[in-house]
Amino acid sequence: MNCLQVARVLQSYLDGETDEVTARRVAAHLEDCRRCGLEATLYEEIKNALARRQQPDELTLHRLRDFGAALLEEPPPDEEADGA
Ligand SMILES: [Zn+2]
Repeated sequence: MNCLQVARVLQSYLDGETDEVTARRVAAHLEDCRRCGLEATLYEEIKNALARRQQPDELTLHRLRDFGAALLEEPPPDEEADGA
């Protein structure tokens, strides 16, 4: 899985809605990739804030939006290939 694929399923993954194979691939990627690990953390923060019925904090939303924009504008190097 690359970062873009992870980004697409990340919310489902955090909600426990992905199948087991996908969940394992995402988890493996999150361990290796700081960038996606950070995004997962941001989603968790937002989810937790919503669970507490609070607004997600402004800074978190900005970071998340920047992350998405960066992914679209500048595809990261192929991080999955470094095992070869
Ligand atoms: Zn990644």
